[in-house]
Amino acid sequence: MKVPFEGTILSVKARIRLIRSFDQIPTHQYQGYSLVMSGKVGDAARDFKIAIGPKAHEKHRFRIGDVVSGEGEAVPDPNTEWGEFYKISGLEVHKRGPSPDDAPPGPDGGIAPALEVYRANGHRRLDRDTWARNCAACPWGLNMVTEIIVDHWNPDRKKYRFETHCYGPKDCPRYNPGKPYRVPGRSAGMVYVDDDVERSSQPFR
Ligand code: SF4
Repeated sequence: MKVPFEGTILSVKARIRLIRSFDQIPTHQYQGYSLVMSGKVGDAARDFKIAIGPKAHEKHRFRIGDVVSGEGEAVPDPNTEWGEFYKISGLEVHKRGPSPDDAPPGPDGGIAPALEVYRANGHRRLDRDTWARNCAACPWGLNMVTEIIVDHWNPDRKKYRFETHCYGPKDCPRYNPGKPYRVPGRSAGMVYVDDDVERSSQPFR
């Protein structure tokens, strides 16, 4: 069942799923964008997040301060989607936020770029507290659904968690990597420590 929503955008983030299999280089699914909003869902006033596809963002170029309405379905499993609502329809923009159409993404907002730009930049781990404190408005700082294939001989055996990562420039003064992510293996005690080695050679703009 779809529920109506209306609210003001607080941030726009890419929606990229990270897929890990122990010590293999992670792969990614570039799904679209998440809009973090404050407003009303049905009759309830609250903050909420919606998951949209890349075409909706390409069309509207969402930004902080936009007032947007639509309707969507609650996601069935909150472990597999950061947004609370997906299958969004009837999106309308009622008022535009202050950023111009070509505002570059940065710590205080701007326009989230095409998913191809995220793919080209690559990401580095980002300390979760730093992400929450310093990166809330930045389109580069993502809280990514992370699917872990625990046993590659039995790929249906999966775990889910959220990892915070930064797709922005190396020299951002707000950046703090935090501890490396630890990836469990198929037997008790097997752990791979991902120290971002495979990403250290990327240009990262
Ligand atoms: S550390 Fe990354 S996510 Fe945070 S403000 Fe800087 S560029 Fe944005």
